[in-house]
This record gives sequence, structure tokens and C-alpha cells, in this order.
Amino acid sequence: MKIIDILTQNKLSISFEVFPPKTEMSFESVKHATEEIAKLKPSFMSVTYGAGGGTSKYTLDIAKNIKEMYGVPTLAHLTCVSSTKETVQSKIHDIKEAGITNIMALRGDIPQHLENCDRSRWDYRYAIDLIHELKNTANDFCIGCACYPEIHPESSNQKEDIKYLKEKVDAGCDFITTQMFFDNNLLYNFLYKIREAGITVPVIPGIMPITNANQVDRAIKLSGSFMPQRFKSLVDRFGSDPNAMKQAGIAYATDQIIDLYANSITNIHVYSMNKPEVAEKIQSNLSDILGKEF
Ligand code: FAD
Repeated sequence: MKIIDILTQNKLSISFEVFPPKTEMSFESVKHATEEIAKLKPSFMSVTYGAGGGTSKYTLDIAKNIKEMYGVPTLAHLTCVSSTKETVQSKIHDIKEAGITNIMALRGDIPQHLENCDRSRWDYRYAIDLIHELKNTANDFCIGCACYPEIHPESSNQKEDIKYLKEKVDAGCDFITTQMFFDNNLLYNFLYKIREAGITVPVIPGIMPITNANQVDRAIKLSGSFMPQRFKSLVDRFGSDPNAMKQAGIAYATDQIIDLYANSITNIHVYSMNKPEVAEKIQSNLSDILGKEF
């Protein structure tokens, strides 16, 4: 099933993100965690490519397993930076062979050792290069791309960031997923600006439930997200008590989701980070809203 068909149904869709294992040794435990999340029957699941410490070579194995064993539509992430055309072509071929019809087209972070090198000869410099490639090789993929309500760390200003986002959509992206954010007002302002810029495809807000205090610094470093005082107080109060922090972090994320839905945003992506208990709790917190028992 194509993700765009889920996003345009005009009813609440909750999707979960998982990441592949780092090593072959951890494959079975990651597979098990992703299966537990798949059993919750989310609207779809996305599997990252090399992000969150996972290894890209397992993205497809995990995505294929979720789709074939549990019938959950899957979105396979693919990054292109510093890759050759041959590598990307072979990945696209494998994704197609696996029967996966949804690809999240990303540039990926520039590896530290390549930051200062001449990028003019790279096959792919930006996500848009991958989007063109996908459109040229197999025009039947449903394609997603990333956006940043608080601007991408490399961008000098939001106007420029939105201009490049529009180029990705014009090149053929069907939907956009946002970087995590902890203040919904930032998302509402961003949506207003991108709609004004003529971007009309569905935008899926990405919500990250922070379930332990150690995650906070990592999440801010990764996303550059603004931490509202309300969230900081919660970490100050509960950060040293793991169970209380988990409960409070899930409640905060649930509250963000309810506010988004109350403001007519029907598609929400949860960065569930291979934690079935977090995905399950979020869904059960929303059971009456989703009209499902968990
Ligand atoms: P791009 O869209 O290429 O943008 C990167 C920067 O270049 C931005 O500053 C943009 O404004 C600028 N830019 C874009 N086009 C041009 C142009 N034509 N000329 C000049 N400047 C331009 N990383 C992973 O490694 N694996 C994953 O699975 C993964 N999943 C993600 C999922 C989501 C929803 C998000 C938000 C991020 C994800 N990331 C992942 C992180 C992502 O790879 C990084 O944020 C990366 O630095 C940028 O990727 P992008 O696709 O947004 O890049």
C-alpha cells in the first residue's frame, strides 16, 4: 500500500519509526522489537537507513519482515550522500524486488571525515538528486522527504530551507515528514509558511517521546530542537527516576499528538525507537480517539 493513500484518508493515522540493528548479533532482538510494534497495527512503519546507530544493510530485511509477516505498510529510508550511482541503483533495485513501494529519500548527514572535501564530483549532493534518480528509474514509488520546522542545521535561514524543500516536492515527493519538535507552535508556524510557499503535499509531524533523561541532550544535539520550559521542568523533576520519566515523557508526547489532532492534523509519525512498550502506551493513551482497543 502506498503511504500517500493512507495520508489522504482524512482520519487519524499513527505511524511508528524503527531502526535496524548495528550488528548481526543484535538482529534477532531488533527484529523482535519491531515485530512487537508491528503487532499494534500502526498505519505504517518506517525503517531508518543507518540512522540511530543501525546499519543500513539491515533496513530492507526489517522492512520486508514487518510487511510480509504482519501486513503493515512499510516505508524504507534511503540516504545518498557520498554513495555512488551503482550503490544507489542496486539499493533501489533491492527495495523494488522486496515489494516495498514507499521510499523516504534523504541526503543523510555528511560523514565527519568528508566535511571539508570537494563535493562537486559527488554523484549525490542533496536529497533532490536521489529524488530525481528515483523518478527516472522507477516512477511508481511513493516518495517521502524530510523537513525541519526549526530549520536544518546547515541552512542559513528558513526561507532558503523552504525554497529547497519546495524543489524536493516539485521533483516528485508525495509527502513530507518533519524533524522532531517539542513545541507545537513551531510546527503551526512552519506549516503556515510552507503552505504560503505553495507546498501542498501532506506533512507528517514527527513526535519523539523522550523516555529517559540521557536522551534529552542527544535529541537536542541531533535536531537542534527548542526545549520549552514546560518540558525542561518535567526533565528536572523526573529525570532521576527512570519510571517516572518514562511516564512523563510519554504523557508529554501524547499531549502533543492530541493537540495536533485537535488542530486538524490527522497524520502523526512517532519516533518510537524500537521501544514496543512506548508505542503501545502512546496508542492506548489514544484508544478512544483512534476508536480502537489496545
Ligand atoms: P537535503 O534535503 O539535501 O537538505 C540538506 C541541506 O542542504 C539543508 O540545509 C537544505 O536546505 C540544503 N539544500 C537542499 N537542497 C539544496 C540545493 N539544491 N542547493 C543548496 N542547498 C540545498 N538520516 C539517516 O542517515 N538515515 C535516516 O533514515 C534518516 N531519516 C530521517 C527521517 C526524517 C523524517 C528526518 C527529518 C531526518 C532523517 N535523517 C536520516 C537525517 C537526515 O539525513 C539529515 O538531517 C541530513 O543532514 C539532511 O537530509 P535531507 O534529506 O533533509 O537533506
